Amino acid sequence: MSQSLNKQALVLGGSRGIGAAIVKRLSSDGADVHFTYAGSPEAAAALSAETGAQASRVDSADRAALTAFIADRGPIDILVINAGTLVMGNPLELDPDDIDRMIDINVRAPYHAAIEAARTMRDGGRIIVIGSVNGDRMPMAGGAAYALTKSSVQGLVRGLARDLGERNITVNNVQPGPVDTDMNPEDGPMRDLMHSFMAIKRHGQSEEIAGLVSFLAGPEAGYITGASHTIDGGFGA
Ligand code: NDP
Repeated sequence: MSQSLNKQALVLGGSRGIGAAIVKRLSSDGADVHFTYAGSPEAAAALSAETGAQASRVDSADRAALTAFIADRGPIDILVINAGTLVMGNPLELDPDDIDRMIDINVRAPYHAAIEAARTMRDGGRIIVIGSVNGDRMPMAGGAAYALTKSSVQGLVRGLARDLGERNITVNNVQPGPVDTDMNPEDGPMRDLMHSFMAIKRHGQSEEIAGLVSFLAGPEAGYITGASHTIDGGFGA
């Protein structure tokens, strides 16, 4: 408790999985949390009732809606950009519209959301993007477009850290390995292949990712910026 006491936090994509764990963790840290969701209103309502966090339906793929929402929200202290999608498969057969939507959510939204939040963010603020170890390593076929989106987060945090450092705003990328969520269930068909790459042969839990986010959002992390932090059970080792 109290790492982020009295801070205003916004979590983009907080209704399920890693995002929901971040909403719970920052709420229990004492932050005043607001989160967005797109397709899961029931999960969002349940999480809101459980934590007291406010929920708003905002599709990260809709740049105008996303930036207007952030502008209306006013100054925040902690922005966590978690919303993301995964499209994998033979690139010669995937629907280009599905790829472009993933790029909208995983690449364009983090950039525009971070910039819009930075306009009013208080000094000492925190911007944290959830990337992926696949930004460093994509050891399977079919992941070129997803890897592209997650590598881009590395460049975003490096560059934006330079723009916001004078205001003591830190900008960081958290890169999970396999985490047991709807996107990547531990009992899914890729389990044994993924575990074969790993030093710790299990999926991570969303709460483990939320713990790192909590640290980066907190007062002890003020000297950490422009960096990518891998939390992957050794997937990329
Ligand atoms: P889930 O699919 O379990 O949850 C995704 C969350 O993002 C949901 O809350 C969803 O909300 C929200 N979201 C998705 N699209 C949009 C959108 N267009 N607008 C607003 N919110 C949206 O995924 P995870 O929890 O597993 O993943 C979270 C992040 O972590 C992603 O960025 C993912 O790429 C990354 N990651 C995940 C890993 C894993 O193994 N699970 C590994 C490495 C990185 P709703 O349902 O309401 O639309």
